[in-house]
Parts: sequence; C-alpha cells; structure tokens
Amino acid sequence: MSDNYYYFDKNACEFKKVEYNPTDRVIHTISLWLLTGLVISGIIITSLSTVVGTPAEIALKAENRELLTQMRSSKDAISKLNLQIESIAERDNEIYRSVLGMEPIAYDERLAGAGGADIYNRFDNYSNEASELLKWSAANLETLERRVGIQRLSLDEIKSIYNNNQQRLSHLPVMRPVDGMILSNYGMRMHPVLKMRLMHEGMDFRANIGTPVFATGNGTIRFAGNRGTLGLLIEIDHSHGYITRYAHLSKLETGIRSGTKVNRGDLIGYSGNSGRVSGPHLHYEILKNGRSVDPIQYLFTDITPQEYLLYKRMSEEDYYADAE
Ligand SMILES: [Zn+2]
Repeated sequence: MSDNYYYFDKNACEFKKVEYNPTDRVIHTISLWLLTGLVISGIIITSLSTVVGTPAEIALKAENRELLTQMRSSKDAISKLNLQIESIAERDNEIYRSVLGMEPIAYDERLAGAGGADIYNRFDNYSNEASELLKWSAANLETLERRVGIQRLSLDEIKSIYNNNQQRLSHLPVMRPVDGMILSNYGMRMHPVLKMRLMHEGMDFRANIGTPVFATGNGTIRFAGNRGTLGLLIEIDHSHGYITRYAHLSKLETGIRSGTKVNRGDLIGYSGNSGRVSGPHLHYEILKNGRSVDPIQYLFTDITPQEYLLYKRMSEEDYYADAE
C-alpha cells in the first residue's frame, strides 16, 4: 500500500501531498486489518458450517446417534419380553388351564388385534432407521401391554377356579411320585429292551430298589398286585376321570390294598425292578378318561420352569431310557 496521497489545490493550481497526523495513520491501518480479518473469518465460518455443521448441529448429531443406540437396545429388550410372555402364555395354556379343565386362550386372541403400522405414520418424517425403530417399538409395546393384560386376566381366572375347586384339585395327580431324576419321558421312543420304536405311555424316574413311592393325589387304590410286564403295580383312582399307575415296585406299603383311601403324599410302596425292565426305576402313568397323558403337564407344582423345558425337550428328542 502506498503511503503518499495527493490532492489538487485549485487556488495554488498544483498537487499537494495529503498530510495525515500519526494517530490517523495508525487508526486507518488497524481498521483495514480488522475489516480484512472479519471478511476472512466470515468466509471460513460459513464454509465450515456447510461442511461440518455448527457446534449446535454437531451436538445434536451426537445426541441422535446416542438415541438410535438406545432405541436399538430397547428393541432387543422388547423382543426378549415378547419371548418371555410367549412362553408364559404357552405354559398357561398347556398346563394350568388344561389341568384345570379350562379352554386354552387362542394365540391370536392373546395377540388381541395389534394396531397396523399406519397409525404410527407421524414417525415418517424421521430418518429411515429412526422411523422404523419408533414404529416397531410403539407397535410392539402396545401388543406386549395387551398380552400382559390378557395373561393377568387368565391368572385371575385360574386363581378363582382353583379357589372354588380345591376339593376337586386335591385329587389331581400333581406331584412327583418319587424323589429321583426323570430318565425317560412320555412319547414315542426306542424301547430299551425290545429295541424298536414304541409309544412310552408314562414317565420313568431313576430310583434304587426300596425308594419310597408316594400317591400323587387323593384317591382310592383300585389295584395293588402283580400285572405282567408292569411287575408289582399300584393303581389309584383319583375320580374326576384320573387314574395313576406306579409300576415295577419291589414292595407295597403296609395297609395298601384295593379299596384303601390315600391322600396326596401318602407312602404307598417302594420302587424296584419287577416286570420287564433293564434296571430298577419307577414307571409312572397318568390316565385321563381312560387314555394316557403326558405326566410332565401335571408335575408343575414340583418342577421349575427350567426343568419343565428340559424334560419337554427330552421327550421331543427321543431321549434314551434304560427301562420300560
Ligand atoms: Zn416307563
């Protein structure tokens, strides 16, 4: 920048040098620098905002990322809850309602008309993932709420039926007949002695010879003696259509004979290896209206949910057994 400026003096008719005092010069220079600086930083800030975003935008983006992560884990949690309520509903239908002679609640009735996705179209303005996550969560939470509500109603119903039928229920065979692990479940299986696929009409418990065997519900002994391949056998009539069988025994408890009245938990005999067996165990059957049913469905007072699932899987996988 040139330091000298001139002006035309009409009176003198000549160019004259413009004289600044030193203070004016300094102010002039500083103003120029400041102006240049302002323009340049303006340009820099504008281009940064376009490319990177303003500080507020950067903070919002970080918040959005965090929210999406949270929504994804909420989705996982809802999925897990859905699975849990499903297994509760299954147990509810298969065990409690069925044992109490109540109608099962149909699957779609339990789902109870979950709303369509279009009622959540207020989320459409968000990014794809966010809008999908929000719609999914809203719809599934609503379904979950309904299913929990239905489950609660069902449990209330079960409770009232239970309270009003305690007399009848004391007859139901709902405990383990012997203290021993389950060796073989109800269902089709390879027969351990005959080596062919046959229906196993009962459940086998591991039990050494002489292990106490208990009546699983109130009732009357209708048979106590030897019967072919079942060996020494006890049959209890629980009325209401239920009969239980305890086979391969070694000994009857004193006083146990046809006509004896027994209560749930009464000692009736001792396990053994009589009849057609490959080793000592207790074979236990439940008959409902003359047909054998899966005892696992009746063991619910004596079994944890984990055991229930394990035994159910065992019976589906043709678990091996060491005896009839
Ligand atoms: Zn058996």
